[in-house]
Amino acid sequence: MDASPLKKLEQLEFSLDSVTDLSSSPSASPSSPAVATFSCVDGVTELRFLQSDSTHCFTFDLASAQLFKLGTVQFICVSDDNSEEERSFSKGVNIKFGSEKDSKEFCDSFEEWRKDALVHGSSTVSASKSKFDDKIEASSAKMYFHYYGQLLHQQNMLQDYVRTGTYYAAVMENRSDFAGRVVVDVGAGSGILSMFAAQAGAKHVYAVEASEMAEYARKLIAGNPLFADRITVIKGKVEDIELPEKADILISEPMGTLLVNERMLESYVIARDRFMSPNGKMFPTVGRIHMAPFSDEFLFIEMANKALFWQQQNYYGVDLTPLFGSAHQGYFSQPVVDAFDPRLLVAPPTFHTIDFTQMKEEDFYEIDIPLKFTSSVCTRVHGLACWFDVLFDGSTVQRWLTTAPGAPTTHWYQIRCVLAQPIYVMAGQEITGRLHLVAHSAQSYTIDLTLSAKMWGPGASQGGILQSSTGKFDLKEPYYRMSQPQAYPAAQEPPLPPQPQLNPQDIQIQSDDFEEELLQEPAQNASTTQL
Ligand code: SAH
Repeated sequence: MDASPLKKLEQLEFSLDSVTDLSSSPSASPSSPAVATFSCVDGVTELRFLQSDSTHCFTFDLASAQLFKLGTVQFICVSDDNSEEERSFSKGVNIKFGSEKDSKEFCDSFEEWRKDALVHGSSTVSASKSKFDDKIEASSAKMYFHYYGQLLHQQNMLQDYVRTGTYYAAVMENRSDFAGRVVVDVGAGSGILSMFAAQAGAKHVYAVEASEMAEYARKLIAGNPLFADRITVIKGKVEDIELPEKADILISEPMGTLLVNERMLESYVIARDRFMSPNGKMFPTVGRIHMAPFSDEFLFIEMANKALFWQQQNYYGVDLTPLFGSAHQGYFSQPVVDAFDPRLLVAPPTFHTIDFTQMKEEDFYEIDIPLKFTSSVCTRVHGLACWFDVLFDGSTVQRWLTTAPGAPTTHWYQIRCVLAQPIYVMAGQEITGRLHLVAHSAQSYTIDLTLSAKMWGPGASQGGILQSSTGKFDLKEPYYRMSQPQAYPAAQEPPLPPQPQLNPQDIQIQSDDFEEELLQEPAQNASTTQL
């Protein structure tokens, strides 16, 4: 059977000496070795430059890209943005090869692949070129919408009863915000929130969904005649589609891990600006990222141990130690996703508010959060724990949906950024730092974390010696730890009696966020999965 879209994937790679972004300052995008990849997935032909340290990635649609030769081994590659009325170049990179041979081969391939792109056309892509396509890598978007196009993943979200039940309550308790109103459901998925809005008396709901799930939503809504004539499913991205009228209220579930993962909040505020009437409401209205330092020796040792594999000097006769440092760094760059005991927190949490009614789309590109805590205990701090909540600011009832540790677990769990170098604190000591999030084109964020504390003892009286620990994390590459044995049985509670029956809602072993499925390491999982 050749139904799999991956069958149509082809690609070709070239090594480059350097690639530099033409539009930013040299310090923002330093020149660095890179790999250029031509690829064609289901008719979309792309050229992608990925810097070897993965800090920058530049993607060009070959149907609109041009190559200019600067020298025997140097070129400028630019993309011609035809969506503008005036001809303008939207992005460009300077690329350099190690040899004339490489340079010539690349140049020939560029012509060949470009011709192919023009002949076979990537018309669907260029026709729908939008804000979304400009900032999100085509391959990431393809996987993302493929994931959400599957019923099983929508079911996982529907089965998060904390999530879905809170949305239902927030809508039903605030009927007056919906009754007789025009509603837009931003990223409708199965259409569940549209049907909640219709149950609350909405005059009309526009259910906008970009993935193939739109077809299922149509089918589901058609099978519910009480609402069917008041809901219109529109298949497409909120960035691209048009609506016949303005909305009184937007409803959406755009939250990812750490609130911002998946970068769908940007689509939510784009939908606000495009479709909402000036005094419209947003459900949810506000989001908060909560943060607190934590201490967890078990987790720290577990992570450090993972890299020990690479300490072997005789692995079938091969010395693995040259890669130990990279492996260690790799494990500590994965944010840990699981539900932890709130007693692991060592200081009262702080939060950072994101007001969906006020944020501009660009405000999500970089989020900088200064941190300041007062430690409640004398301990070793292993990193920063984060979770989020969102508010439905209804006219009748204000309802919060929380993903906090200790609260009923949701499919988002909590996330922890573990530092390779813990810091030591005393009770009452101040912990300062910074959480810096930078959006990337694979619909996620790079996280920079710094935690610092003034040392005690000699030196403290002269202002103290600063202990500081930093870590860099990729939110797209989390370590899902839910399948691990429970490490923290509540000491004062008796052991649970054997459970004869499991309710479906108890069997929430797998996480539901799309990144997990796409990015987990299968081998590692296989060895740790247990029910
Ligand atoms: N509202 C549903 C689904 C939430 S998951 C529920 O609460 O159960 C988010 C959905 O938004 C996914 O189905 C995804 O395909 C869709 N989506 C994400 N970005 C979108 C965009 N820019 N335009 C339209 N749909 C989008």
